[in-house]
Amino acid sequence: MSAHIGVTGLAVMGANLARNLARNGFTVALHNRSVEKTDALLAKHGDDGDFVRTETLQELVDSLEKPRRVLIMVKAGKPVDSVIEQLEPLLEPGDIIIDAGNSHYEDTRRREAALAKKDLHFVGIGVSGGEEGALNGPSIMPGGSKESYDALGPLLEKIAAHVDGKPCCAWIGTDGAGHFVKMVHNGIEYADMQVIGEAFDLLRSGAGIEPAEQAKIFEEWNKGELASFLIEISAEVLGHVDAKTGKPFVDVVVDAAGQKGTGRWTVISALELGSPTSGIAESVFARALSSQTEQRQLAQELLAGGEAAVEVPESFVEDVRQALYASKLVSYAQGLDMLTSAAKEYGWDLKLDEIASLWRGGCIIRAELLKEITKAYAAAEKPANLLFAPAFTKAIAEVLPAWRRVVATAVQLGIPVPVFSSSLAYYDGLRRKRLPAAVIQGQRDLFGAHTYGRVDAEGTFHTLWGEDKSEIEAVDTH
Ligand code: NAP
Repeated sequence: MSAHIGVTGLAVMGANLARNLARNGFTVALHNRSVEKTDALLAKHGDDGDFVRTETLQELVDSLEKPRRVLIMVKAGKPVDSVIEQLEPLLEPGDIIIDAGNSHYEDTRRREAALAKKDLHFVGIGVSGGEEGALNGPSIMPGGSKESYDALGPLLEKIAAHVDGKPCCAWIGTDGAGHFVKMVHNGIEYADMQVIGEAFDLLRSGAGIEPAEQAKIFEEWNKGELASFLIEISAEVLGHVDAKTGKPFVDVVVDAAGQKGTGRWTVISALELGSPTSGIAESVFARALSSQTEQRQLAQELLAGGEAAVEVPESFVEDVRQALYASKLVSYAQGLDMLTSAAKEYGWDLKLDEIASLWRGGCIIRAELLKEITKAYAAAEKPANLLFAPAFTKAIAEVLPAWRRVVATAVQLGIPVPVFSSSLAYYDGLRRKRLPAAVIQGQRDLFGAHTYGRVDAEGTFHTLWGEDKSEIEAVDTH
């Protein structure tokens, strides 16, 4: 029997993707470095569909129809290079190697370029949704050549999550585009989680609302424009009571957030692209600060608070909801703007409507809001920034007073709201007629002769600061 696809790497993600493929009618050849995982999968879930057991990569390759599709789901990093190295001599021109792990997009670009020279397709795909998604329908972000998508797309679209009958999977763009988009997805996820955390802190520390009551508020919020997987699970987390102590679960959990690195990758990449992705950056830094437990302990003893004794307004819960909506929207706007910058840098034709659409199901950031975002980018006239789409320009205008009130109250009460406040600063920075960047240009010209432009003339200029302060036209040295 020829298998439609081979999967090598049968830990939790690979096993679940293989089962998902089999359940959808594809014959799946199975391989793992140590054969125990292959046999364990067959013993437990062999009934899920048609599997072909193989022990070596040669057997795996021999069992596949042509062009061969081999999906690698091993630990990201060196193991991926090692498996590619072993596979490459066994394959023929036109065959497709797929890396569905969380690889860095620069690694994917490098691997794709190297394998293209050997007439092999290399497809880096971002898969979101964790274990459960891999088994029952993830959000899938494939890169690689369009030609490879023609051979691979039908399988991926079948196993992806579906929303309104549409698969949460579409060809993203060449080489590392899929992994790049998955990385930014994870960055948005960081910001989305942080704004929910900030809303919790505001409601608890500002309005004294206990977690159990907040769980009900979040359930209510989940029925409106904030409806999303993350709001839904936050209600569950807030409502959970620790069996050992009878205390709210969130009060017995150590408040130091971990990370695996994709948020950090997003911020590094945003800095390299010069993309103002402040919400994602602040959410990564907020996790870092939370983990500086020794300094936090010392700061509680050493640093003054100086909080003002302000009463929160009656409308506080609704204000927080609106501020959460605005901050979340800005995080999406910044993430999508980063994709626009990356598309220019790497020559990708990223379709933001399709990307927003495939985040609607299967993944961690799935949210009602993505329907409107998809619509905004599907319009004949694409907005240069998500916030310029008429529906969102109007929505933000409506929540702006509450957003400002919440940030002002948080500052007075000493409640840190890094993403709420930086998102508002981004919004104000974007729309401000004159920014203090002019002063910075003056400083740069004075200490480093970096030159500046004038608002009333073409060209670049330099002031002779150490002489008579007259202005000269600068010679372009580039
Ligand atoms: P994992 O723990 O990252 O990796 C374990 C698998 O890699 C095992 O099959 C192991 O084989 C294999 N492996 C490790 N080094 C190898 C090498 N040098 N050569 C060949 N095989 C090697 O597995 P995972 O959690 O299923 O994740 C797989 C990928 O999906 C990762 O990139 C991960 O970041 C990504 N991902 C994970 C999740 C999640 O929720 N877990 C979600 C999205 C994406 P042996 O059994 O022989 O040791």
